[in-house]
Amino acid sequence: MIEVVSAARCVTCDICIRVCPTDVFERGADGVPVIARQGDCQTCFMCEAHCPADALYVAPFADPVPPGSPHADEDVLGAALGEYRRLVGWGGGRTPGSRLDKNHLFTRRLRS
Ligand code: SF4
Ligand code: SF4
Repeated sequence: MIEVVSAARCVTCDICIRVCPTDVFERGADGVPVIARQGDCQTCFMCEAHCPADALYVAPFADPVPPGSPHADEDVLGAALGEYRRLVGWGGGRTPGSRLDKNHLFTRRLRS
C-alpha cells in the first residue's frame, strides 16, 4: 500500500496522480500529491514505477502499516524510495527489466 510521498524529492509533475488506477492521490496546495484515499490503494506499484524523482514508496502489504513502522518513515527508508522503479529498470541510465529476462534460455532448451 502507498505509504510515503517525499515532499523533498517530488518535482510536482502530477504523473502519480494520473497513473493511479484507483485515484488515491489529490494534488496538494504546494503541488505535492497527498495520499487522500489510502484505503483505495491496490498495491499495484504503478505510481512508484512512474515517478521520475523516486519520491514514492509503496510498502509490500495489502493493509496500511501500523504507526511507527519503518515502512512509513522516509528517513529510515532512504534508498528504498523508488526501489520498484529501479528494480524494473525504468529511468535514465537503467537497463529495462525485459533485457534481463532469461526465459529465452529456458525455451531454447525445450526446443533442443
Ligand atoms: S500502488 Fe497503485 S493503487 Fe496504490 S497509490 Fe500507487 S498507483 Fe495507486
Ligand atoms: S510522480 Fe513523483 S515527482 Fe511526480 S508528482 Fe508524483 S511524487 Fe511528485
